[in-house]
Amino acid sequence: MEPRSPVELPGYAHVYSGKVRELFAPIDQTSGEASQDALLLVATDRISAYDFILDSEIPDKGKVLTQLSLWWFEQLVDIIPNHVISTQVPESVAGRAVLVKRLDMVPVECIGRAYLAGSGLAEYRQTSSVCGVRLPAGLDDGSLLPASIFTPTSKAPIGQHDQPMTYAEVEAKVGSSIAASVRKLTIAILERGNEIAAGRGILLADTKVEFGLDTSRPDGEGNPTIMLADEVLTPDSSRFWPASTWAPGRAQDSYDKQFVRDWLTSPASGWDRSSGEAPPALPDDIVQATRSKYIEAYESLTGRTFA
Ligand code: ATP
Ligand code: MG
Repeated sequence: MEPRSPVELPGYAHVYSGKVRELFAPIDQTSGEASQDALLLVATDRISAYDFILDSEIPDKGKVLTQLSLWWFEQLVDIIPNHVISTQVPESVAGRAVLVKRLDMVPVECIGRAYLAGSGLAEYRQTSSVCGVRLPAGLDDGSLLPASIFTPTSKAPIGQHDQPMTYAEVEAKVGSSIAASVRKLTIAILERGNEIAAGRGILLADTKVEFGLDTSRPDGEGNPTIMLADEVLTPDSSRFWPASTWAPGRAQDSYDKQFVRDWLTSPASGWDRSSGEAPPALPDDIVQATRSKYIEAYESLTGRTFA
């Protein structure tokens, strides 16, 4: 069944509900047909953790993520073109929606890691490698990696967990040419991100990017253009750490939803992650603190004041 959209937008047909975003196709005034070329990507204030959409929303989160992604797209434009067509959007979703090129999404979550944490750390502790990438001995929680690595996962349907993929599996899924491109691009984006963030006191430990193919713009050899899509280098898609308190050997302070994850797995939440049950709503102080973290990350990185 088509998920019901919590957003009503006259002139747009609802096409998809993600965990965080609602996708709409603009309806052509004359033909009455929904566009196949463009999408309105609307970021809601929903937050997901451990693959659950939480009952609580984080006020202004949709705007922060949208504005931060737009800012990063500009910082990355010499590395890769992006899906943005326009930021002229209906008033009711102003600031948290973007009109984008509708792309054939590459069916891989492209994860880059500059530091070791989270699922990468867990895999390293068991196998000394992450997604088939062998790492030196002696790395700890929060260690800087010798070089940024590509650790892709599958894109699982909502409610299921993404699974680690080796590079060979990515090649088998999307072909060796696209696999090579997305690996190189993911690392280039993370490295550029870290160059810029370093000057602003933030470490980008890891990030997930999504690419899409624009078949309307083939290159000289007839290959589709690879474009950066979705969101980029936000606290939802990345681990942001304050550089000033970084110290390997323990969990790091963070600007991202690690804060929410930590509360959910603490005794205070009363939630058992292994139960398979949905987590409880967040208390108001966690909601407010999370909102502040997201805004602080946006302001520190962009140098702008969040309006
Ligand atoms: P998914 O929906 O894949 O489970 P998610 O829940 O994180 O992931 P959201 O971020 O809420 O998804 O929704 C964004 C959806 O829009 C994703 O499925 C993403 O792949 C898709 N998307 C982003 N940019 C584009 C684009 N330019 N063209 C087509 N689809 C896009
Ligand atoms: Mg997403």
